[in-house]
Amino acid sequence: MDDPHLIPLSALQHYAFCPRQCALIHNSQVWSENWLTAQGQLLHQRVDQGEPETRKGVRYERGVLVSAPRLGLTGKLDLLEKELASGTLLPVEYKRGKPKSHDADAIQLCAQAMCLEEMTGQFITRGALWYWQVRHRTDVELGSTLRERTLQVIEQVSRLLSSGELPHAKPGKHCSACSLQEWCQPESQAKDCSMDYLTDLFSAEEDNQ
Ligand code: SF4
Repeated sequence: MDDPHLIPLSALQHYAFCPRQCALIHNSQVWSENWLTAQGQLLHQRVDQGEPETRKGVRYERGVLVSAPRLGLTGKLDLLEKELASGTLLPVEYKRGKPKSHDADAIQLCAQAMCLEEMTGQFITRGALWYWQVRHRTDVELGSTLRERTLQVIEQVSRLLSSGELPHAKPGKHCSACSLQEWCQPESQAKDCSMDYLTDLFSAEEDNQ
């Protein structure tokens, strides 16, 4: 679990949400709590502290640690459901908000399932996302498209973390849900980048004259 070369599962969700956010957290060690992240932390603590239990033929294990050296991942599952009759495993990830238009949560869930596959040898076909704000559980098929996208994100995160780089900000609607806005300064950062671009452009033109 403590192997520093393994990528935390949460980094995949951060990257799929915004590569700069991922680099700020995992390369620059910046973390800032706002009420959204604080609520999320509390939710995860509550879930993790729950005792294992068995109901209607299903075993519920909380705060399950996973480590998959071949994939290069490590982390913790909020909840693992095991159907006792068939042995079928199903990871469940708890989220504070509601279902979103991006695939960051599904990627994190798929990566959790792939970690379990590496550890158990069992193929996992489904997982679930549970959204606290709307009290809604969404079943997620772990199909080939999602798996390919997840592998792609693992590769991209691996490159980002080993480079130590901080990508430029790409401000958008998603910034309003980001607790790192104050650190990131997305608007002024984007202006700086366009100034860099213009400066480069003009100096290239001058070089050509
Ligand atoms: S403020 Fe926007 S660009 Fe900056 S890290 Fe957050 S989501 Fe990314």
